[in-house]
Amino acid sequence: MALIVQKYGGSSVADARAMLRVAERIVDARKAGHNLVVVVSAMGDTTDDLLDLASQLNPHPPMREMDMLLSAGERVSMSLLAMAINNMGVKAMSYTGAQAGVLTDKHFGKAQVTGMVPERVARAIHDGVVAIVAGFQGVSSDDEVTTLGRGGSDTTAVALAAALHADVCEIYTDVDGLFTADPRIVPTAQRICRISQEETLELAAHGAKILHLRAVEFARRYNVPLHVRSSFSKLDGTWIANEPAHPELEGIVPDAALEEEAVEAPIISGIAHDRSQAKITIIGLDDKPGTAARLFSLVAGADANIDMIVQNLPTSGSGRANISFTLPEVDGERTMRVLRDAQAELGFKEMHYSEGIGILSLVGAGMRTNPGVSAKLFDALSQAGINIDLISTSEIRISVVVKYEQLDAAVRAVHSAFDLDSTDSEAVVYGGSGR
Ligand code: ASP
Ligand code: MG
Repeated sequence: MALIVQKYGGSSVADARAMLRVAERIVDARKAGHNLVVVVSAMGDTTDDLLDLASQLNPHPPMREMDMLLSAGERVSMSLLAMAINNMGVKAMSYTGAQAGVLTDKHFGKAQVTGMVPERVARAIHDGVVAIVAGFQGVSSDDEVTTLGRGGSDTTAVALAAALHADVCEIYTDVDGLFTADPRIVPTAQRICRISQEETLELAAHGAKILHLRAVEFARRYNVPLHVRSSFSKLDGTWIANEPAHPELEGIVPDAALEEEAVEAPIISGIAHDRSQAKITIIGLDDKPGTAARLFSLVAGADANIDMIVQNLPTSGSGRANISFTLPEVDGERTMRVLRDAQAELGFKEMHYSEGIGILSLVGAGMRTNPGVSAKLFDALSQAGINIDLISTSEIRISVVVKYEQLDAAVRAVHSAFDLDSTDSEAVVYGGSGR
């Protein structure tokens, strides 16, 4: 008997029919003797609909009220799901994030989990009751309802799994797991059988929309094995877990997923793409110690999360440098304003802003030991006639900025250059928006 935390995304509970299918799955697992804690997202596009509604009433709604509103979405799905399960003869009770002991800081709209005290959930498990927990929400130390940022239900699930020492955290979505690229762009993308937490972190941080970034961070920190799979099929999905030798995984991760490791591990695990970033280029900065420090402390002060940074050395003797960096498009305007105000202090000449860039990231732990990966990547792009704007790398990732319109073609070209195309089956997308 295992303790399983299951998380169902919005498309898995989009309507009564979908919810019944989920309820049946939960009842089956319960009847097989497992203890279950279930985390749910809001039904279908509820969160977006609530956002739209709010904007019709106030273009800049108070963040506190926004979190009150958005947290309601998950309360609807948790209570309905509990009703459905009870009707199938299995005891289930729903809990809000606060009731489930999800403690957060006070950042409305993007609260961080600061502690977990899931006493009521633990009691439910003890009493043989299926606990249904509203994802994406928590409570701050001053008793305010907070939300964890879009897609935050994953984080609720992994944090609960860590706190309860669950055997596995299953993330149910509308695709069969993680793919070597987005199957919506590359129909021949293959399901990844097993992938390390580290690689998943790189993919999630660079646009792969399958998992909330903080959920992966939690999974890595507390070593929670994740199984990302479809609620629309019974197929095995993707196991996200580190070393196969991990004793807790024995008997949980199917042998096939572990054996794959023993065969030759692929150099490249997958390709992520991101269309949500923008680029700022600053021309004619003073080339002296402290300029970059000042620049990026201003950017950090604007609460912008930057990713790539590229500096060009000044041309002979001019004493001026250019710096380009990427950041989320939503932070673009605010950051530009802060920098413009500091133009005199920073002493730059011009500043350019480009939205609509595309970023492709190639991720694979095998890059560490295999030279030539970047050459192959650049060659694939050049053969497809795609120009590279910026490049950045980590130990296990290479990212390139390309033109927005060329991003899909770039992903396809790189996918086949690294022999990631599947020859037999096409990836199935069951519906919904990927969450
Ligand atoms: N309902 C929230 C959203 O759509 C949280 C989630 O789905 O995980 O972002
Ligand atoms: Mg959602």
